[in-house]
Order: sequence, then C-alpha cells, then structure tokens
Amino acid sequence: MFSQVAFLVVAITSSALSMAVFGSLLRAGIPGLARWLYANTLIAFAFTVLALQSAAPGRLSIVVAGSVAAYGILLVLEGCRQFFGLCPSRLRDRVVYLAWVIGLIQWAFVSPDPNVRIVLISAFLAYIRVSIAWMAFSLRPVHRPKYSYYFLSISSCAEAAVHVARGLAYGFGWERQTSAVLTQTPMSIAFLALGILALPCLSIGMLMLAHDRMAERMERLATVDELTGALVRRAFTVEAQLLLKRAARSESRLSIAILDIDSFKAINDEYGHAAGDAALRQFASLVSRGLRRGDVFGRLGGEEFALLFPSTRQEDALLMVDTLRMTVAASPFPVPGGEAACTFSAGVGEYCNDDSLATLMARADSALYSAKAMGRNRIVAARPSNDHLNRRLPTNEASATSQAHLPT
Ligand code: GH3
Ligand code: MG
Ligand code: MG
Repeated sequence: MFSQVAFLVVAITSSALSMAVFGSLLRAGIPGLARWLYANTLIAFAFTVLALQSAAPGRLSIVVAGSVAAYGILLVLEGCRQFFGLCPSRLRDRVVYLAWVIGLIQWAFVSPDPNVRIVLISAFLAYIRVSIAWMAFSLRPVHRPKYSYYFLSISSCAEAAVHVARGLAYGFGWERQTSAVLTQTPMSIAFLALGILALPCLSIGMLMLAHDRMAERMERLATVDELTGALVRRAFTVEAQLLLKRAARSESRLSIAILDIDSFKAINDEYGHAAGDAALRQFASLVSRGLRRGDVFGRLGGEEFALLFPSTRQEDALLMVDTLRMTVAASPFPVPGGEAACTFSAGVGEYCNDDSLATLMARADSALYSAKAMGRNRIVAARPSNDHLNRRLPTNEASATSQAHLPT
C-alpha cells in the first residue's frame, strides 16, 4: 500500500545524492553551485523532519519543515541567478517568501486548513519553477549546446504546470484533504509522486548546467590564448583549414596576414617581462577590435600572430592590416616610469587554388621577412604562387607584383 513516508525517503535520498555530487564539484568554483548544495541540505533536513513524524506530522513540524524546504527551493532559484551572472538575492523573492511563511502559520495555527496550505505551497513552487524555466531559456548562452538549458527549462515548465494543476484542484475543491494524513486518492498520490520526482529532475538540470560551464572552460583553455585572447596556434590552424576548404569549394577569395611585433625583445629587456605582457595584451586588443565579424585572429607563438580575412582580396587585406599598423603605432601602453609604443611588421598573402595552408603561410611569412629586412613597421604583399602567376599573368607582370610594400 502507498505510504507518504516512502515518498519522503525517496526525496531525502535524492537530495543526499545531489549533495554528494554538488559537494564533489565545489572546488570547480562554478557560480551558484554552493547555493544548490545548501538548498539540497535544507530540503533533506525538512523532509527528514516530516518523515520522522510518520504519516501524520504535527502542525509545528509542517510549518518548520515547510519554511525550511521553501527556503531551500528559493536558494535553488538564487543559485540559478548567480550561475547566469545576475544578482542572486532579490527583495521581491524575500517578500514573497516571508508572505508565504506568514500564510503557512495562519493556515496551520490560526485557522487550520490543509487545503489552503496545499494551494500556498503549489503557488510558491510554481512561481520558483517558472522563474527558473524563464531564466534557463532566456539566458542560455549563444555559443553553447542548448540541450542542458532546454532540459532545465522544459522540466521546470512541466513541474510548474503540475503545481498549478494541484493548486487549482485543491483551491476549487475538486480534491480535498481533511487532515494531515494524506487522502489516498489517485490524484493526490499522482501529485505527490510528481512533486517528489521533480527534485532529482531539478538536480540533474543544475548538474547539466555545471557540466556545461566546466566543458566551456576546458574548451576555452584549449583554444584561446590566455594572455591575448587570440586563438592558440592549433585552433587557428583548424579554423584556417576550414576556411581554405570553403574558399576552394566556393572559389571565393581568402587572404592571410602574418604579424610580428618589432624589436619586442628590446621592450622586455628595457621595461621588464610584465611590460612586455602588457604590450602583447594591448596589441591583441587593438587588433581584435579592428577586425570584422568573421575574420580570424590567432597567436602563432611569442610575439607572432596571424589573421585570416575570408572573402577578401589581398589589396583590401593589405589596407586593413596597414590601418591596424597605424593604430598600434599610435597607441602607447604603460611601462614603468611612463609610456612606450610598439610597432609591427606583416606579410599579407592571398589564397590561390593550388595552395595548402603551409604554402600560403610560407608566402606570407616570406613577405614578413622582407618587411623586417626593409626596416620594420611596414606591410609587404606576398607574391602569388608560381603556378598561379603562370596561369594568370605574363612573366614581367609577375615580378612587378612580387612583394609590393606599403610605404610607412
Ligand atoms: P624582430 O623585430 O626581428 O621581430 O625582433 P624581436 O625582438 O621582436 O624578435 P625576437 O624573436 O628576437 O624576440 C622575441 C621576444 O619575444 C623574445 C621572447 O622573450 C619574447 N616573448 C615571447 N613570448 C612572450 C610573452 O608571452 N611575454 C613576453 N613578455 N615576452 C615574450
Ligand atoms: Mg618580433
Ligand atoms: Mg618573432
């Protein structure tokens, strides 16, 4: 036969397991996770109080356990807010919670009515679940897989619907409860079972969010250079191969630039490594701000960087890189005792049909070498590949195109 205590034991076990999992993840420092852990602790405590009262908990136990469990549920909402970078505590929630506790006391002691209490509990839980569902849906990150966010949102909506139905059923008297002992009608058992099942569902949703945040961090560590925010060499190469394939398939233009900061060793030697790092950060920030959507920026190593310009002719890429060159040269960065500015040189090449990434980069690199040899702080255009020249240009025109450079 159905037992109210059996459901409570399931809920306590679920909360205890969630506590163990969230506890193991605390060190990851995911925002909101500590609140989710405390929430499960409070819920486990509240349900233990009710379970210890067996099938007919006293009114004091109902008020104490109800207030503690409701505060736990409120902490879940606050944890979600914190996870999404919002201010976790809101006055409106605290007021709703306080009004709810006063209502619980009123209908437990002053004019006892278990049906009104059920309506109150359902309304509060529906409010929390709708808030969580909306937050997970509206604040889901754009560049992440949506699955976890949809799971939390949909399961919270489903749970909110159950609470609304329960509130309406007891509010309009379609279902009645006459004492603290739960009336064992199919509807009341179904409501209780769904309410209890919602707890592990909620914990799984929060766990999915935490997992996604950790995966995002790992992916970022593997692809983005910490100091400059540019793609690391491996990630840049993957991106470049994709763009090369796309350019070959669609016969569209693709230009590349290899940039190297001039006399960077002297900056380190004169002002120290920290100033060198500041110069790298500023350089990268100026370059990325000057790029268009779709352009790719990578750090090849040390003070050497690369840019990819999809659907761009070499001449246009040259002008864009030259604008960056002037911006960087005109933007001093702080060094001990004042300010200093750095410059960079670059080689710019354009993809030809027979190019591999290696040959394209080698041509841009050779142009960069020429820029350095010509005195630095300048941009040099790489000569097109020989095959390309032979097909497109007469021989004398080819040599004229060779390593044209923009005057500084
Ligand atoms: P050139 O104009 O010919 O490019 O001369 P350069 O001094 O820029 O080139 P070189 O290759 O001689 O020196 C590069 C220096 O960049 C040496 C290295 O210590 C420094 N460097 C590489 N990575 C970092 C970094 O992350 N931070 C700092 N501060 N320095 C770095
Ligand atoms: Mg250099
Ligand atoms: Mg270098």
